[in-house]
Amino acid sequence: MNLNTLKESKLLELSSHFVGGNHVEFVSNRQFPVMEPRSGRKLATWHYATAEQVDLVVKTAKQAQKTWAGSTWMKRNEVLKKTAELLKTHCDDIAYWECLSNGKPISEAKADVLSCVDTFNFYSGIAHDLLGHHIPLDPSRYAYTRRLPIGVVAAIGAWNYPIQTCTWKTAPALACGNSIIYKPSPLSPVTALILGEILKTSGLPDGVFNVIQGDAETAQHLIQHRDVAKVSFTGSIPTGKKIMAACAERNIKPVTMELGGKSALIVFEDADVDSGVACAMMANFYSQGQVCSNASKVLVHKSVLKEFTEKLVEKTKELKIGDPLKAETQVGAHISEEHRARVEGYINGAINEGATKICGGDRIQVPGLDNGYYLSPCILTDITPNMTVYKEEIFGAVLLIIPFDTEEEAVRIANDTDMGLAAGLVTKDLAKSYRISEQLNAGNVYVNTFNDVSPLVPFGGIGESGFGRENGVAVLEHYTQLKSVFVNTGTCPNPF
Ligand code: NAD
Repeated sequence: MNLNTLKESKLLELSSHFVGGNHVEFVSNRQFPVMEPRSGRKLATWHYATAEQVDLVVKTAKQAQKTWAGSTWMKRNEVLKKTAELLKTHCDDIAYWECLSNGKPISEAKADVLSCVDTFNFYSGIAHDLLGHHIPLDPSRYAYTRRLPIGVVAAIGAWNYPIQTCTWKTAPALACGNSIIYKPSPLSPVTALILGEILKTSGLPDGVFNVIQGDAETAQHLIQHRDVAKVSFTGSIPTGKKIMAACAERNIKPVTMELGGKSALIVFEDADVDSGVACAMMANFYSQGQVCSNASKVLVHKSVLKEFTEKLVEKTKELKIGDPLKAETQVGAHISEEHRARVEGYINGAINEGATKICGGDRIQVPGLDNGYYLSPCILTDITPNMTVYKEEIFGAVLLIIPFDTEEEAVRIANDTDMGLAAGLVTKDLAKSYRISEQLNAGNVYVNTFNDVSPLVPFGGIGESGFGRENGVAVLEHYTQLKSVFVNTGTCPNPF
């Protein structure tokens, strides 16, 4: 793959697995179509890796990990820094492929790639945080701790943020001296391959980063492989449960679970209503609503309900839905026909249960892209707690307006779920923001913003939304293991 002609390259004709530093053609009797959501067109037919092929990749990654773990901190920093540089240089072309294989607007895809630049930059300077402790015990004894790599990491990703999810796992795993086998979702399997090429060009030894294509069956072979030492998963709660079970079954493997959510945004009576509308749109319509931390439950104080609703509907109707490759597009295509139908099912189900649709939820025909998976952002009112949309993650652009009277009521509705990925509030009252943030059961809380993200800040859920963290120094806990060494500077005392 030539990074300088990435956009024009015949990327999809290249072998679809990246193993040992090379594009490898694994042929199997199980194939899958690589789809283009913006047009509904099939771009290529690729193969899922078999158990034997998975075994070969794990062997490659295990061998390469030893070299990588033995490399100096400067070498690792250098590779990660160079990766950040190359991602930045080729941002537009990578975003093009992300847009093509995911359907998100090109402006968002570019922002995703730039966020990967930040992530690699951050972890390129992380060596200091991987140091151990020296623990004096008494004049002749001390202990020290070593923070060591875990080994081969199997990372399994969802489809909504393909290159970002891959980066969030890869950058810290590599900084800690692990090797990694990334299995993207078959729905957005392309850009992890580009990251492989960039890491290779940046000087990463062959075999330290690998990509295999696969579905649940392939992923299970990977997870249950004896030489895979750690699993990092991003995806749905039902799949997360199966992966946890598999991690326990074969040999005890530590696992990171980045799962789904059912989040809420509370717009208080003192809020700047325009800011509340912006937060609500950010919390629901980015990436066609296919964001794990999205706050589909928008709780609005009754005193500002009318103004908020009118402004929200007006702004939502102004959103530009269209070809994701066009710079002006704000709402692109859903990931698949099946997923679009699922989101429509939530909307129609809610209406059948008594909800009122006040905006959107319509299939949109984009000229020249007639079979693309487009759906206009939807707003529902008259929501009650017994409705499926109130209880389940929708993972689409469906915003539920739920009025409230008191702080206690708002917090109760926001916390009325077993999931706990995110929550947000809009207020000008600093004391209230502190008070409410403390009461919200969520791993990530946003005040006067939503879905804000930084490599410096840990991201992850509580409750059924998972455990472990990505980003920040916190993630290092999850890609290393601690060794404690006791040292006696004299002779060993005989206890007998
Ligand atoms: P999914 O659970 O269907 O699939 C995720 C990955 O798991 C895919 O790579 C898939 O091939 C693999 N997989 C599926 N079944 C498996 C099995 N039985 N064993 C092993 N692997 C299996 O999820 P999805 O539809 O790709 O993604 C949407 C979900 O991901 C939503 O619930 C969303 O909230 C969640 N998500 C969470 C985060 C987060 O950081 N918390 C981020 C993005 C998406």
